[in-house]
Amino acid sequence: MFTRIVLLGPPGSGKGTQTERLCTEFGFAHISTGDLLREAVRTGTPLGIKAKRFMDAGDLVPDELVIELVKLKLAKCPRGFVLDGFPRTLEQAKALQKICMIDAAINLEVNEEEIVGRMINRRSCRNCGAVYNLEFNPPKKGGVCDKCGGELYQRSDDVEETVRARMKVYKERTLPLISFYGSRGILLNIEARGGIDEVYRKIMEKIRSS
Ligand SMILES: [Zn+2]
Repeated sequence: MFTRIVLLGPPGSGKGTQTERLCTEFGFAHISTGDLLREAVRTGTPLGIKAKRFMDAGDLVPDELVIELVKLKLAKCPRGFVLDGFPRTLEQAKALQKICMIDAAINLEVNEEEIVGRMINRRSCRNCGAVYNLEFNPPKKGGVCDKCGGELYQRSDDVEETVRARMKVYKERTLPLISFYGSRGILLNIEARGGIDEVYRKIMEKIRSS
């Protein structure tokens, strides 16, 4: 069984949701570098203090710093983990390989038209941030959050032009990453069509047969 997993997929591919499921089912830690950074800044760790300087200046936090954060976190995840949204580039993947052997890179493959369709159907809660999809995961009552009754709205980065621009960047950066894991024989391509349950079932099938 794989315990050290990287989950790859374009924005809107349902990465976060699938990561949650895997973690709940197998007791893995869900590692998001965005969360790690926010946590480090909030608690004022030495790395958090350094990261904050870059963030305050509006700069990207350098890879070395993010890798250090990931390294510290991985040491605390003996039951395994799923990395969600990291690595994003070939350089990050190589750096990650130096601190930890990854067992599997699950790649959610979704075609661009489907992603655009999904993202423009996304609605977020103004109050609690919960995310819905009008097609796959609609709220029980139109325009209202199931969890807190807050108002649902369409985020500005969920409009078509923005989604297409992000897809382009994703493809350019991620293709080398996919070849990197492919050449190591640990890439699991999942055709991520359909709803959340169907995609999860495909992931499980692939994991069991590998
Ligand atoms: Zn809500």
